[in-house]
Amino acid sequence: MKKTALVLGGGGFIGGHLAKRLKSEGYWVRVVDIKFHEYFDWSDICDGFIKADLREEKIVKESFYLNDDKSFDEVYQLAADMGGAGYIFTGENDADVMHNSAIINLHVAKQAVESKVGKVFYSSSACMYPEHNQMDPDNPNCEESSAYPADPDSEYGWEKLFSERLFLAFHRNYGLNIRIARFHNIFGPEGTWQGGKEKAPAAMCRKVSECKEGGEIEVWGDGKQTRSFLYIDECLEAVLRLMRQEDFLGPVNIGSEEMVSINELAELTISISGKNIKIKNLYGEEFEEKYGHKCPLGVKGRNSDNKLYKEKIGWESPKLLKEGISSTYSWVNEQANKK
Ligand code: NAD
Repeated sequence: MKKTALVLGGGGFIGGHLAKRLKSEGYWVRVVDIKFHEYFDWSDICDGFIKADLREEKIVKESFYLNDDKSFDEVYQLAADMGGAGYIFTGENDADVMHNSAIINLHVAKQAVESKVGKVFYSSSACMYPEHNQMDPDNPNCEESSAYPADPDSEYGWEKLFSERLFLAFHRNYGLNIRIARFHNIFGPEGTWQGGKEKAPAAMCRKVSECKEGGEIEVWGDGKQTRSFLYIDECLEAVLRLMRQEDFLGPVNIGSEEMVSINELAELTISISGKNIKIKNLYGEEFEEKYGHKCPLGVKGRNSDNKLYKEKIGWESPKLLKEGISSTYSWVNEQANKK
């Protein structure tokens, strides 16, 4: 008998890749999303696609229904109202981000118990870590135990923290079998690369791709802010290893420990493109004059801390930033050339 998986948010970047991987492993997969995947044909990633709004309780109920005798073995809850810095750090989308994602999670947690599903994976984010531990770009602290006292720097982070607690409460009170991971900047091909919701690696690839030889790309901030980026294949491997063991629920970081400054990321992308391009760091008044709002930067430093994951799961993601940016650049470049 085939294993069954429900991927909520499978019309998006990580969910699409995850559904595809599960299907390739022989699962019977259903995807639910408010939109179809932009780059994958639905039949390549799942056996059934429901295009519907998970903010509606009735839709969530229908999504979980498999047949009268059986429930889904695994549910992956990745549906969320999210985007890169230009979407979650300007403050303009705070109410929607909190309301839309929280209401999906509230319905999903309750329905997962009612439907007696096997296991639920919830994708939290590194954005839930307190701002005060991420002021030093060279030495950020994102150890799982540093989450409290809580002080995320965005409403997106607060919602993630709330929903982690929601799933943990459903585990405690109703025995819901959960796994929770805090993703740190996942990137790769077949993800959002334009339109305002794209994240730093894809945005960087687009800017470099669209820039003429000898030109200049705009990089937000002074470029010294640090981050780490995990390639999509490693992210999926880490998620599935977390799901496929019985002792540890999380929350646990899923990210890379290969920390770079944003200017280093830009330089790496430029060198991969083989073009001669300069970096123009835009921030402060100059940024406000151009865009009419403050530069949406997020914390000064962030790096995944993978000690707990290694200890509990016994696996470590390889450091493949260069290779990952290389394949992402090729894909974004191809998309940009199609325009
Ligand atoms: P994404 O935006 O590509 O995917 C999210 C999907 O949820 C989208 O396809 C969207 O249409 C869907 N969705 C949103 N509202 C919906 C609704 N009302 N009904 C049905 N579907 C709805 O984002 P992603 O990068 O694939 O992220 C997946 C999950 O991982 C999200 O929960 C995100 O917060 C979390 N996460 C991602 C990263 C990252 O670096 N990509 C980092 C931290 C956390």
